[in-house]
Amino acid sequence: MRLLLHQLAQNGQKIGFVPTMGALHEGHLSLIASAKKECDFVVTSIFVNPTQFNEQSDLDKYPRTLENDIQLLAQAGNDLLYTPTVEDIYPDDFDHGKVYQFNGIDNLLEGAFRPGHFNGVAMVVHRLLDIVQPDAIFMGQKDFQQVAIIRQLIKTENLSTRLVMCPIIRSSEGLALSSRNARLSPEWKKKALVLSQSLHFAKAAIQSKQSIKEIEAEAIKRIKNQGLKPEYFSIINGLTLQDATRKSGFLVAVTAAWAGDVRLIDNMILRDKSDSYAK
Ligand code: AMP
Repeated sequence: MRLLLHQLAQNGQKIGFVPTMGALHEGHLSLIASAKKECDFVVTSIFVNPTQFNEQSDLDKYPRTLENDIQLLAQAGNDLLYTPTVEDIYPDDFDHGKVYQFNGIDNLLEGAFRPGHFNGVAMVVHRLLDIVQPDAIFMGQKDFQQVAIIRQLIKTENLSTRLVMCPIIRSSEGLALSSRNARLSPEWKKKALVLSQSLHFAKAAIQSKQSIKEIEAEAIKRIKNQGLKPEYFSIINGLTLQDATRKSGFLVAVTAAWAGDVRLIDNMILRDKSDSYAK
């Protein structure tokens, strides 16, 4: 694969890379579509990375649908699928002790509830980038904090890959698509709509007189009322990921909640980087 990709690069072809953990859905396919638009050759990886799971049961229960994934990738016009084994990614001499520095953004939000998660994410993406050497990597806004982590990884490790963040793809009712949704019962799927609804509420409320704290508290209440167990609902500065103190600048509402035994995350840009409110 390295030989092939090297040859393509030498012939001036731009390589786009979409790392995934499989159980592919329209969200993943949208990343491939973006990569196809911007690059000449698209590589998708499917690797359920053990180092980013902080609970063995979550890793064990992670959906694996390789045959279906292969069909979806063929339909989407993906050029190369990379499905490494754990030994390919982490050979015997691999240094598992590497601790990446993220100026604290790895300990907030998802990091606070999933210790070590982002170090594992950085480890696998760093390794994959080293193998694939893409011109651009395509990642979903669905994992907003993960995008910030990889942006930082590219900067601190001085990598030449460009990072492209692609918008969140949702079901027609508003549920952010996720491989984990396959584990939701029809009842929980319905109740989980409260996540995107509460994000829409926050987006409207940010333009009202309500304070940031009041909006967050109201959103938490709405999520609890549907029977979900929220871990956080925070309005943050989209650049620093710190709690927003003022209703100005780049504002993003981020949330994580348990729908039964399935942990879901979602987010929405409330106000973009320019001065006008985000559409
Ligand atoms: P995963 O397979 O969950 O590790 O996700 C692989 C990539 O797909 C990540 O960059 C995710 O952010 C992205 N992704 C997952 N769900 C969505 C979605 N609903 N919309 C857009 N991108 C997504």
